[in-house]
Amino acid sequence: MFPEIKRKVLNHQDITNEEALYLFEIEDKELLQDVFDLANYINEEQNGNVVSFVHNMNINFTNVCELHCTFCAFRRNGNEEDAFVLSEEGIVEKVRGKGITEITYQGGLTDRVPLEKALSLLRAVKDYDREIHCHAFSPEEIAYYSEKTGKSYREVIADSIQSGMDSMCGTAAEILDDEIRAKVCPTKINSDTWIEIIKCGHELGLHSTSTILFGHIEEPKHWVRHLNRIRDLQKETGMITEFIPLLFMPDNAPLGRVLERKGIEQDRSSLQLRMLAVSRIYFQNTIRNIQTSWVKMGLDFAIQSLQCGANDVGGTLYSETITRNAGGTHGEYVSVDAFEQRIEKIGKVPIQRDTVYSFQKSEESHLLTSAVRGQEIE
Ligand code: SF4
Repeated sequence: MFPEIKRKVLNHQDITNEEALYLFEIEDKELLQDVFDLANYINEEQNGNVVSFVHNMNINFTNVCELHCTFCAFRRNGNEEDAFVLSEEGIVEKVRGKGITEITYQGGLTDRVPLEKALSLLRAVKDYDREIHCHAFSPEEIAYYSEKTGKSYREVIADSIQSGMDSMCGTAAEILDDEIRAKVCPTKINSDTWIEIIKCGHELGLHSTSTILFGHIEEPKHWVRHLNRIRDLQKETGMITEFIPLLFMPDNAPLGRVLERKGIEQDRSSLQLRMLAVSRIYFQNTIRNIQTSWVKMGLDFAIQSLQCGANDVGGTLYSETITRNAGGTHGEYVSVDAFEQRIEKIGKVPIQRDTVYSFQKSEESHLLTSAVRGQEIE
């Protein structure tokens, strides 16, 4: 099956779900290296030697949350000692003087931060500096505020845009398969609702990211279903900027303890590389940017994964609390200089980007070039 997949890639044709499943299940090491090489080929064709990153900060405005997702080590009950809700002044203090171009703005779901409060905190950042891009709220938060206020998804998103939301977080997707969602996040919105809300944001002019939380109880067939839903959505709206595979961090999460008791262990680095490579191949004609995460696996690993299909190393990321709470040990900040040096060291060209990859828009559209490119290649 691999030669046929390669032929399709060379001719800029989408691979099928069956072919994606085959790639996910390859065990032969040499063949797996061929998969990495093919993903690298697509990346070099689309992005050349360029590796991008954004100078940003995560702002989690509260860790108090009513939900109990089993993979989450971040949430707290309201009465726990380290539960917090940020104030307007506190948020501005975090941002002040950092020179960042983006905040990723998310928080737990709690009556202590109703929609008006969440929007007031967002406005505080915009009042401090209108130029900071506010990448805010996942579909889960939009659904929560909608339920609490009686407003439609569209109205909540429109209110958020009024208060400074510039793009939507594609988190809370986890695995877009309701069989798995029922086990790992039973009280979260279902797959259809996640798609519906992201699409609503796109219709209102917001770009979004897309993510997958993998490496827990799911199987390759669930990854394929997830990728398929994202690809279909992107074909419809074209407003997804990037795909971000997020490897499950088991150390402090309830789900991690369950897997440990069951003796389930995975080769995490191999899993991450495979997800990056297969998603690069699967999204060849739909999503140009595949992001590797230094927060989860470390900067050395992220740099290595740039040979397997990834072209973006995410953010400098002041204040990354969610992964650290989950047991991530790779620090909370990489400076712009450090990113540039490490990327140059492997012969690639670092570019500090904005949230929506504006630097790519001035280039001739690769996807367009692909679509009109000549004859079949055997
Ligand atoms: S993942 Fe988000 S919604 Fe789920 S428990 Fe954690 S903070 Fe709450």
